[in-house]
Amino acid sequence: MHRVPVPLVAATANPDKLAEIAVILGGDVELLPRPADLGEVVEDGETLEDNARLKAVAVCSAAGAAAVSDDTGLEVDALGGAPGVHTARFAGEGATYADNVARLLRELEGVAPGLRTARFRTVALVHRPDGSEVVATGTVEGRIAEEATGEGGFGYDPVFVPVEGDGRTFAEMGDEKHALSHRGRAFRALARRLDGEASNR
Ligand code: IMP
Repeated sequence: MHRVPVPLVAATANPDKLAEIAVILGGDVELLPRPADLGEVVEDGETLEDNARLKAVAVCSAAGAAAVSDDTGLEVDALGGAPGVHTARFAGEGATYADNVARLLRELEGVAPGLRTARFRTVALVHRPDGSEVVATGTVEGRIAEEATGEGGFGYDPVFVPVEGDGRTFAEMGDEKHALSHRGRAFRALARRLDGEASNR
């Protein structure tokens, strides 16, 4: 049966993430823009889920409607799981994607290919005005390449090679990335849960 898309206010203003989420969710969700007058939400939680919740709660109360957020961390085994919750600002406050990639490659200099294992983890979360929540997680295992390759995607995509792929980085993949990616998995799981709730009503 065809369902009416669920309206959700997007907690992110990051155009790279918004574009991916819209492609992944397709017709399941109607993504509404974040209130323009809401400032940046301070992400000082200890976990990805804490930060996803901080963003979704702030946007839900500003918009007075259900909000969807996501938070992603890159966990590099040779760095003890860093940058993790600090992924966006690995090279410092205000770091660009290129600064972060450069720092990561520097920290892994001399680390053998077999020891450059890593994963992306995304928590996607819906928070509604009545306080109810739906949470889903997605991960993708991979390794950090020795140099950046590819023009697509964003963030660390030019150095992330998923294990289930064919050796290309996410930045070399275009929309194929979403079939394997942490964000693809988290948001598809979230959409299934929302759909399950709708069927049980
Ligand atoms: P956020 O918590 O979703 O804003 O993600 C934190 C940081 O992780 C971003 O600033 C990016 O540097 C990185 N990141 C998030 N998602 C991806 C992705 O799909 N590919 C590469 N890097 C990502």
